[in-house]
Amino acid sequence: MRIAVLNKDKCQPRQCSKECYKYCPRVRTGDETILFGEDDGKAIITESLCSGCGICVKKCQFDAIMIIGLPESLEYPTHRYGQNGFALYGLPVPQQGKVTGILGPNGIGKSTAVQILSGALIPNFGEEETSWGKVLEHYSGTALGDYFKLASSGNLKVSQKPQYVDLIPKAFKGKTSDLLNKANTSGRLEDVIEKLEMKDIMDRDIGALSGGELQKVAIAACIVKEADFYFFDEISSYLDIYQRINAARLIQDLAKELNKSVMVVEHDLAILDMLADTVHIAYGTPAGYGVMTMPKSVRVGINQYIKGYLPEENIRIRDEAIRFETHPPKDGADVRTILSYDSFTKKFGDAFSLEAKGGSVKEGEVLGIVGPNGTGKSTFVKILAGEIEPDTGEVGIDVKISYKPQYIKADAEIRVRDLLMEVADKFGTGYYETEIARPLRLDKLYDSYLTDLSGGELQRVAIAACLSREADFYILDEPSAHLDVEQRAIATRVITRFAESNSKTAMVVDHDIYMIDMISQRLIVFEGEPSKSGLANAPTNMKNGMNKFLSNLDITFRRDEETKRPRVNNNMSRLDREQKEKGEYYYS
Ligand code: ADP
Ligand code: SF4
Repeated sequence: MRIAVLNKDKCQPRQCSKECYKYCPRVRTGDETILFGEDDGKAIITESLCSGCGICVKKCQFDAIMIIGLPESLEYPTHRYGQNGFALYGLPVPQQGKVTGILGPNGIGKSTAVQILSGALIPNFGEEETSWGKVLEHYSGTALGDYFKLASSGNLKVSQKPQYVDLIPKAFKGKTSDLLNKANTSGRLEDVIEKLEMKDIMDRDIGALSGGELQKVAIAACIVKEADFYFFDEISSYLDIYQRINAARLIQDLAKELNKSVMVVEHDLAILDMLADTVHIAYGTPAGYGVMTMPKSVRVGINQYIKGYLPEENIRIRDEAIRFETHPPKDGADVRTILSYDSFTKKFGDAFSLEAKGGSVKEGEVLGIVGPNGTGKSTFVKILAGEIEPDTGEVGIDVKISYKPQYIKADAEIRVRDLLMEVADKFGTGYYETEIARPLRLDKLYDSYLTDLSGGELQRVAIAACLSREADFYILDEPSAHLDVEQRAIATRVITRFAESNSKTAMVVDHDIYMIDMISQRLIVFEGEPSKSGLANAPTNMKNGMNKFLSNLDITFRRDEETKRPRVNNNMSRLDREQKEKGEYYYS
């Protein structure tokens, strides 16, 4: 079985010679396999007449057509956005009192599924006509049947946290307290402000908040609304690990203490692992079709996802497993030091002071930078990058630095290709194509305007732009933000290979423990009191670094036996207590 999916935005029949139609062998033998719509003139492909040869896919200069062979087990879609539209197979099942996770790439139908579950979209099972009556009949006698009875009656109250918090200031003008008081139909606001540590931002204008603060506001607004079904689309971007865990605990309380149905999409696997009870894996072809598996226990589901094979479904979702280091990487004493920096300090008025201990970096290594928000990580990298002057101490770095900031602005009306040609010295070289553009899947983005890109697409472009500038030292601030799990694994590989094969050094600031674990050879650990003072320690090996970092947070991690991925221990569990006694917060 196969489907033909047309990206209607890309299909421009007035600007091409209709090559799909001209070259389609079935059209040439007289079938009406490809027609053009009477209203919009765009291609319509009749799947039952298509042989799946793929010629139209190659001939279309706008990359508008996908012909996709589907796994045999799929019969009919749960929902399809019309002929040649995206098709969704299966639905996640909300459970009262439980947190249900969805794990999978972007563009695979997670938002479509949530729209259906919130009652805003009636699933059509791939047909033109649909009604709630049909849906109730279809799911009668199943858990979803009862759920849809409520959803279809219009009595289901839904509260959702959007994925891209950066857009909130565009939609809301006013103070944080205005926004949250309006959302607070449950009366839970005071408790949530306390637990998410938001007192200081209540009187601030929404437009003046940082990404991390906006993320907290969005999570709080979703929690304090009284509803039956809660959906959180990514809670982690811009939050540090301590804030992620705090938010995760509050969301668990919604399910456990208030008996609500909670669903989350989360790409930070350490957080998903501690937050969700069950997960549905979503797989397929982004923008083509998506399948939601049956629910799996969270440990089993994440392990299957990491290994890339789903045994119950007999589906391979990736050629290779995502790999974690079982042992901390070596100190690398034999590797050449290419650059040293001296101790320095920086004060911003009376409000914040940073003290940084000097250190050195080695050729070809990737250094991870971890620590709470507000302890000066971005200031530290900006000083290294020469964007800010320190007050005392000379950094003493006389090398060229390429820097990707944490918040990426897309305010210029410029196409991705033009931007990269302008900033990237290596743009268009064979090296650039194979090592950067192809893995980060940039080819499909070249003709888009920067302002039309999603957060994840913008992140991939920014990572590529940073790595393809000619420099000695590369600094990437939170490259994982808005990337899905697949893209995080790919970005990790691209950055590591780049440093290794060019004998360059990279520093990566990130809060995703999985990414830090995979990407770093050594660590710089930040400590301090958020927004008041920060201390940047000298680079140290992974074991010492993670122990210091996690002991400051009072959290321990163990390794999953099967996949070697890090897992958060339950607070005060046997392992947690044993590891804390031994001072082994990581790598036990
Ligand atoms: P995810 O939430 O997993 O990122 P979505 O459910 O948002 O995925 O989208 C899956 C696919 O469905 C995308 O290719 C998107 O362009 C398409 N899609 C979403 N809404 C519509 C719509 N109203 N009409 C047609 N296609 C849509
Ligand atoms: Fe025609 Fe189908 Fe081949 Fe496209 S894939 S050229 S529609 S037969």
